[in-house]
Amino acid sequence: MKYDVAVLGGGPGGYEAAIRCSQYGLKTVLIEARELGGTCLNRGCIPTKALLHGAEFYDEAKSAQEFGVFFDNLAFDYEKLAANKDKVVSRLRKGIEGLEKAHGVTVIKGFGVLKNANEIEVNGETVVADHIILATGSSPFLPPIPGVDNKSVMTSDEVLEMKQCPESLVIIGGGIIGIEFATLYASLGKKVTVIEMQPDILKGIDKEIVKELSQILKRKGVQIIAGAKVIGIEEVEEITVNYEKDGQPKSAVGTCCIVSVGRKAQIDQIGLDAVGIKRNGSFIEVDAYLRTNIPNIYAIGDITGKIQLAHVATKQGMVVAENIIGKQKRMNYEVVPSCLYTNPEIAWIGLSEEEAVKAGKNIKIGRYGVGGNGKSSVMGQSKGFIKLVCDHATGEVYGAQIMAPRATDMIGEIAVIMECEGTIEELSDTIHPHPTVCEIIVEAAHDVEGLCCNAP
Ligand code: FAD
Repeated sequence: MKYDVAVLGGGPGGYEAAIRCSQYGLKTVLIEARELGGTCLNRGCIPTKALLHGAEFYDEAKSAQEFGVFFDNLAFDYEKLAANKDKVVSRLRKGIEGLEKAHGVTVIKGFGVLKNANEIEVNGETVVADHIILATGSSPFLPPIPGVDNKSVMTSDEVLEMKQCPESLVIIGGGIIGIEFATLYASLGKKVTVIEMQPDILKGIDKEIVKELSQILKRKGVQIIAGAKVIGIEEVEEITVNYEKDGQPKSAVGTCCIVSVGRKAQIDQIGLDAVGIKRNGSFIEVDAYLRTNIPNIYAIGDITGKIQLAHVATKQGMVVAENIIGKQKRMNYEVVPSCLYTNPEIAWIGLSEEEAVKAGKNIKIGRYGVGGNGKSSVMGQSKGFIKLVCDHATGEVYGAQIMAPRATDMIGEIAVIMECEGTIEELSDTIHPHPTVCEIIVEAAHDVEGLCCNAP
């Protein structure tokens, strides 16, 4: 079994890299231990968004009478929400399997282990390849808290397998994954408590957005306890999470507990030491070209410890495919959009106002409130805003933070303008369709120019 390229791990990094290598005429094999699509498709992005979409339907239907629509006996069936999620995942997985086949990628099901710089052992056979791409992803990290092994303590993996909706939840960790789960279950009317060790939830996200989102979550009944250290979990009939806040011992109770405090790279059993691949802490060390210290072995995705997002893994895979065919492509992490699927949605890219000031940039800010946007009003949404950060002299766009309906779709427009090193003037000159939520982008650009006709 001799190939030009062997890809270890079939998540959004690996399966896309394999297809791209094959498109470049390289004989490619993809080795996957579980299901194609990796965390993203099977235990991450897609199942969470499928459940969130269903929950949002239910939540919005509660205020449907404002639109003249009435439901009798509004209810949800969690088992069916979960079944729909499984259907979406399985359809997309079949799609990936079909794509690999259509592009001539050989897929081997099995757990691969590096034997040397050109060989991977899988299912007792040896796969030989000129180039190897490591893309083995990550899994939930469980901190060593006493009681973390109780039956009703779950990670995102188990939560996404549940067929029954928990009545009340304590979520340990108020990062992106924790807050998406809080949104999901609060939208379904369940009691949610979020315990976060940092002084606030969503570390690293624009403070104004965090403040507004916290208020929205609180109005939905989510209790947010920040600056609190969990010291133990007990399970009798219910789960009790004991924590310390301001030096005082306290506790929160729920029927289940979700631990979402980060993810660890799956690199311990893939034979790194047999080949002498260098680590960077608990990740694999790579250079700007995504090469490891072994010249023909690359690493992409969550195992590189850069930004743990599916689209970053995919882009890294594209960069590696180009480097294998002899290009000298560097990975750029400056223009990476991030999304949070709350209601309203949140998305951000590049520098925030605070980061730009810290970086010594002379900036201008443009703002616009969702309340002034026609399409948002039609949708019954008034919460949120956009902030554009740009260079004071040239108007080059450095970043944006959006909290608005469809923010996660709109951030792509800012990504394009940033990738092209475009300016506020160019954004402002671009005719945007009406009525759409994306008009808030052009209004914020007008605001930078002091020409916003409808100040928030
Ligand atoms: P993975 O997707 O983890 O795939 C790695 C694959 O390698 C797995 O299929 C695994 O089985 C396989 N593997 C591991 N070891 C071996 C081996 N030795 N041999 C063969 N196969 C092996 N990101 C977003 O961009 N947007 C989101 O909305 C989003 N939501 C998320 C929600 C949740 C709950 C979680 C947990 C994550 C979410 N993420 C999201 C993050 C995203 O899922 C990851 O960043 C992405 O999946 C990383 O891709 P990857 O290719 O590096 O690895």
